[in-house]
Amino acid sequence: MTDHISADLLDGILDEVRDDSSGELVPHLGDYEHPNPDALAIAVCDLGGTVVSAGDDDIRFDLQSASKPFVYALALDQKGVDEVAKRIGVEPSGEAFNEISLEAGTGRAPNGLVNAGALAAHALVGDTDDDEVSRFEHIRALLSRLVGREVEVDEEIADIEAKSAHRNQALAHLLAEEGSLADDPHEVVAGYGRQCAVRVDVRELAHMAAMFANGGVIPGSDERILGRKAVRYANSVMFTCGMYDAAGDWVYQVGLPAKSGVSGCLLAVAPGKYGIAAYSPRLDEHGNSIRAAAAIESLSDRLDLHVLDHV
Ligand code: GLU
Repeated sequence: MTDHISADLLDGILDEVRDDSSGELVPHLGDYEHPNPDALAIAVCDLGGTVVSAGDDDIRFDLQSASKPFVYALALDQKGVDEVAKRIGVEPSGEAFNEISLEAGTGRAPNGLVNAGALAAHALVGDTDDDEVSRFEHIRALLSRLVGREVEVDEEIADIEAKSAHRNQALAHLLAEEGSLADDPHEVVAGYGRQCAVRVDVRELAHMAAMFANGGVIPGSDERILGRKAVRYANSVMFTCGMYDAAGDWVYQVGLPAKSGVSGCLLAVAPGKYGIAAYSPRLDEHGNSIRAAAAIESLSDRLDLHVLDHV
């Protein structure tokens, strides 16, 4: 690992942010009792596949929206840019992640990282005769290859998601009405809920993110899992749209393609260098993990990782 990234450095970064207990646990899960509200972890994976981590690095969490860039890239890889562009745009929406609105004039989802685009991307994966189970299995296969084990679904969360997916159902029906959803809305919402409930730990998420830093090749291997162009486009959309409606601030301060999930996880991509992940469940008003974002900001600052640092 270059840049002297050590467990000590990462421990120091966690110490900087540890005392911040502000924020809320994921709001849409009702009475769900969070098992680890105070968890805090960070990990960095280089392109050789070496992972360094600190904090609660063995706690698994749901990917939630951090699954979206992988599925968007998979849809791009399988269906091609033109086919995806018929249903999903590339502009920041400036709205909440689950806003019930589509791109004016086209009826497309604004981008692949808000829920509308994530549903449209999910529906594009696999074959036309796939059902919600087999389509999700394409996604599980991709995520499992990236992690190096068969990833599991958090069935309790998947169940809660399914029962409370009213907004996603509304979005899916709106997309279908506009011709922007390639499959049945109910099946897409069910499959997308399982996609969000896939569980990994922070070391695994850093390893997954390093594939984006490595142009589509699994770090530490010669195995290309996604095409270079699909990865470039996914990284681009993560750069401009990955942090919900705080994306502009993130690019300005941290300068790395990134995607957060409402479980409190956050992945970031230092192109050509590292995959980075952090986890801390309490969220700010945009739905981004407060301490995970602060930890990655500190890492980016200490190591000059902002992609515009070298101009
Ligand atoms: N399953 C959540 C939803 O679709 C994901 C939200 C997120 O992580 O942004 O509402």
